[in-house]
Amino acid sequence: MPFHDDPSGGSQIDPAANLAAIEKEIETALGEAGRKPGSVTVNAVSKTHDAARIIPLLEAGHRVFGENRVQEAQAKWPPFREAYPDIELRLIGPLQTNKVKEAVALFDAIETLDRPKLAKALAKEMEKQGRSPALYIQVNTGEEPQKAGIAPDALPAFVDQCREECGLSIRGLMCIPPVSDDPAPHFALLAKLASRLEIADLSMGMSGDYLIAAQLGASHIRVGTKVFGPRPSTKVTGA
Ligand SMILES: *Cc1c(COP(=O)(O)O)cnc(C)c1O
Repeated sequence: MPFHDDPSGGSQIDPAANLAAIEKEIETALGEAGRKPGSVTVNAVSKTHDAARIIPLLEAGHRVFGENRVQEAQAKWPPFREAYPDIELRLIGPLQTNKVKEAVALFDAIETLDRPKLAKALAKEMEKQGRSPALYIQVNTGEEPQKAGIAPDALPAFVDQCREECGLSIRGLMCIPPVSDDPAPHFALLAKLASRLEIADLSMGMSGDYLIAAQLGASHIRVGTKVFGPRPSTKVTGA
């Protein structure tokens, strides 16, 4: 896959060095916030990127990656998995119920549980396959009509339904704040909701705001561009 949007042709981008720099910044931010060192995991969002970008990170020892499309992940990750069995693959894009079978088989975490129908389908499929990816509920903290996720007010009832009706264990909450907003209040809200509902993990923060997220309690930040450089043309990939 050629890197159309990268004038250097990819030669100038060093994902492993980028990641190391990000991890160092995060440790500083954690220290400033009085959080425990090492309490944030960087999810390297590899959507649209091919092996040439991913392999240097694997060779440098990184294992946690994010993809937003089931089909793309299915095409890309099985060979890497064979070489590095401890890879942790996380789904961060919307999940259709007709892809639940593939998603449960492939991913170690699904961050985009956002409706009762999906909760039921996941419960059924996880039971069938005997596999239990960590589940995160996507919360629409900005209550944007076009965005996926459970509204903050509806979250307690949805968590109850997942736990009681579907027998699901909820590992975390995830949010994508509105692009034009200060992200801090959204991250703080997500942290408050998680604490109230006794949910352990918080997936929040992207290339533009991961340090704020780290200070406000993130357990996982999802960083794509700042690790891998700009993504190739979105027309082809739909990302
Ligand atoms: C693409 C994507 C990211 C990474 O975004 P960058 O700005 O490139 O770091 C994070 N989270 C989600 C849900 C994404 O789809």
